[in-house]
Amino acid sequence: MEKSQKESRGRLGTCFYTVLHRPGQKPVNASFHLRFSSAFDLQEEEWEDTIIHELIHYYLAFFDMNDKTSHGENFKRMMKDINALRKTCENFLQTSKEW
Ligand SMILES: [Zn+2]
Repeated sequence: MEKSQKESRGRLGTCFYTVLHRPGQKPVNASFHLRFSSAFDLQEEEWEDTIIHELIHYYLAFFDMNDKTSHGENFKRMMKDINALRKTCENFLQTSKEW
């Protein structure tokens, strides 16, 4: 079985995985690793953004939904959906504090 390494590297985080090439079969993405830099003193929200960003890369690779470019349509749609959910959660938390 042939293997090749893939990664989507950002300044703060990286999603690594291996592509397994089996004769006569569709390649399979496996052995995922996420790595984050500790070289930056980030605020909590910046860490959240970074972790979510790399988790989207992980999700798209795991479910074989990678775009042709690392931040293509699928990536952008998922980021938009997650950001909308985060906004909903923030609003909920703010209103629930008032109770
Ligand atoms: Zn990225």
